[in-house]
Amino acid sequence: MKEFIQFILLNACYVWNKKNNISIKPTHIIIHSTATPGVMAKEWFNRWNKSSIMVAVHAFIDDLEFWQLLPFNMWAWGVGGKANGYSLQIEMCEDKEHSEVYFRKVLANTIKKVAQWCKEFNIPIDHVIGHYEARILGIGSNHSDPRHWWSKFGYTMDMFRDDVKKAMDKPVIPAPDKPIDEKVCSENLNVRYGPGTNFKILATMPQGTKVEIFSISGNWAKVRFKDIEGYCSTAYLKKSLTGYVMATVLNVRAGRGVGNAILGKLKKGAPVTLYGLQGGWWETPTGYVSADWISLDKVAAPVEVKFQEGIVTATAGLNVRKSPGGAKVGALKHGTKVIIYEQSGSWYRIGNDKWISEVYIKSY
Ligand SMILES: [Zn+2]
Repeated sequence: MKEFIQFILLNACYVWNKKNNISIKPTHIIIHSTATPGVMAKEWFNRWNKSSIMVAVHAFIDDLEFWQLLPFNMWAWGVGGKANGYSLQIEMCEDKEHSEVYFRKVLANTIKKVAQWCKEFNIPIDHVIGHYEARILGIGSNHSDPRHWWSKFGYTMDMFRDDVKKAMDKPVIPAPDKPIDEKVCSENLNVRYGPGTNFKILATMPQGTKVEIFSISGNWAKVRFKDIEGYCSTAYLKKSLTGYVMATVLNVRAGRGVGNAILGKLKKGAPVTLYGLQGGWWETPTGYVSADWISLDKVAAPVEVKFQEGIVTATAGLNVRKSPGGAKVGALKHGTKVIIYEQSGSWYRIGNDKWISEVYIKSY
């Protein structure tokens, strides 16, 4: 579809807008069809660029061309009711034969253009209405377009809105070459059509999503999420997040899934650097951990539960060993008080890798 912009400077509506310094922010889109079979988009410029013409719309569209005749912030005189004051208005040109082949072509072009407008002006899909619907809503004059023409092909405004919605979900920005950086979302983060909160939200990236960044401008990053490209605030993009282990012991694995080799273990409460969440697994500097056992809120490391207290009874002192019956790592004098955390056979653990024989300990 070729696109042209040529304003109808002589048209009474254009002149009135200029004279009154009109500047609207469109919140609705009105779909018309010309009911003038055989007159194509480019012909309407000459027809309407006259001071005697008291009607105007923003654009005409056919199977090959799109012609914009009014600036988008001007008040069109198209729907004959108060909707003129807040609507973008487009006329679909009808072909002479009312053929279905032509209809499908101009329809496809109109869907594409209206989807583009919805995104650009942040217009909700239920604000896209046919002229005849504007009449029913009491905001337009008594016309039947575009229903009188569409109904020949069994097509309705509801189907049109569905099709526009589908078109809006498709990526609109050509894929950039290569990401310049990767970051992770610290919160659920909206992807918008443009760099600003006034632009329509295309998708929301869940907290933890790893994001490819293609460019940064001010506080906005151009990103890709799934197959959607758009912009998000840089305020919630971090190099990494910090999580905490909730399991007593958490395996770090070579890949996402319990079938992957264990590369290491993390203890409860340990802080973990997180680069991105995918398929229920966090990527960390040393491997992948299950998100089921990671909290983004601080988890207290467990305090070791005291098993019992004791006092050394061996008069010559008591050896401390690395493991039950293992290498000697120290000694305790007679009468030393100890805290026992764990028992294994006839051995007590009194600290990390510190074991003593129970034979020389008396409870007190
Ligand atoms: Zn109309």
